[in-house]
Amino acid sequence: MNPSNTFQVSIIGGGIAGLTLAIQLADEGYSCIVFEKNKYPFHKVCGEYVSMESWNFLERLGLKLSEMNLPHIKKLTVSSPSGKALHHQLDLGGFGISRYLLDSKLAETAKNKGVVLLEDCKVSDVKFDGKQFTVETSKGIFISEIAVGAWGKKSNLDIKLARAFTMKDKTENNYVGIKYHISIDFPDDLIELHNFENGYCGISKIEDGKHCLCYICDSENLKKYNGDIKKMEKEVLMKNPFLKKYFTEAVFLFDEPLAISQIKIGYKNAIENNILMLGDSAGNIAPLSGNGMSMAMRSSFVLNGLLNEYFNKKITRTELETKYELFWKSEFKQRVEFSKLLQKLLKNKSLTNFTISALKRISFLRNAVVKSTHGKPF
Ligand SMILES: Cc1cc2nc3c(=O)[nH]c(=O)nc-3n(C[C@H](O)[C@H](O)[C@H](O)COP(=O)(O)OP(=O)(O)OC[C@H]3O[C@@H](n4cnc5c(N)ncnc54)[C@H](O)[C@@H]3O)c2cc1C
Repeated sequence: MNPSNTFQVSIIGGGIAGLTLAIQLADEGYSCIVFEKNKYPFHKVCGEYVSMESWNFLERLGLKLSEMNLPHIKKLTVSSPSGKALHHQLDLGGFGISRYLLDSKLAETAKNKGVVLLEDCKVSDVKFDGKQFTVETSKGIFISEIAVGAWGKKSNLDIKLARAFTMKDKTENNYVGIKYHISIDFPDDLIELHNFENGYCGISKIEDGKHCLCYICDSENLKKYNGDIKKMEKEVLMKNPFLKKYFTEAVFLFDEPLAISQIKIGYKNAIENNILMLGDSAGNIAPLSGNGMSMAMRSSFVLNGLLNEYFNKKITRTELETKYELFWKSEFKQRVEFSKLLQKLLKNKSLTNFTISALKRISFLRNAVVKSTHGKPF
């Protein structure tokens, strides 16, 4: 084997989870390769609201967020399908940045720190022989002592590894995500979440005066309209008066909507065939929490610490896997499952109306819901 094909860590997927781990490993002096099937910069379906809990972490990695003039978001408005709205002041809040910009900045930082980042490189298989991993890719075969699965919500590799969640009923817990960048008169410090039948849509500001409008809905919604996104938006989303206003008044900056299907909410497994799963590959929190990116970063922060212990021979591979899985379950599993419940609840129109009326009146309940889907700064 050519030694240039051998690394201490291989990371499959160059999203927010994989890239933040790669940067930390490079800072510690470990040799690390990242495989990303796309080429930066590229757009991704995401609400692009990042919880403030990861601001300091990103700055420590070398991203100069404070110099990027990003909108800081402190207020939340939620509406029911009929347009009944509640307003809430967020404790910690968040900031807006497109994935186009964030992921490409992380990729640039990783490369500058010595990470080998292979773009346009799709991984087709990962095998473990008890000692090391063989990673088969469109750009050749690579060997590593550790393999990290950071391939996001869904990937060819989930099927290849026959992960349990891929075997479940395909129609249940099956969502579609759609995103646009728009231009509209909208406050810098606000995020809005508007419910419609079997789905909800978030709007908030990102960089350069643009806004992200992103929604998730039951895949059955779209099937009903034979996959016609525009028709579904007109017939379903625009029944909410807030959304009607945005869809009719905003300037849409993409030629076509960006879409992703077969999104599953829930815990998937933090270890799979000895691969350490990171970010959405380990579990998906419902997007309404606005916390998926911070969870991905927090898990990379903790995994980096554990990998340090492993490479310094303080823990064995088995202990590394056990400790990481324990961390994932104790810190995130409850958060993910609670968000799954919330997501289900929002599918029911009258329950959504009732919940919004109740939350409108009881502020500590609003705080409790926001807190139960968020973590602390790290
Ligand atoms: C509709 C929607 C809205 C959301 N809104 C928000 C929000 O506002 N705030 C928030 O914090 N979170 C939000 N999330 C969640 C957030 O997008 C994810 O939690 C986050 O992207 C997870 O990062 P990741 O690195 O795990 O995965 P990703 O960012 O998806 O990265 C995975 C990468 O792996 C690559 N890949 C996949 N398979 C292969 C392969 N075989 N070979 C090579 N590369 C591969 C992909 O191309 C991708 O770049 C939202 C999610 C959805 C669905």
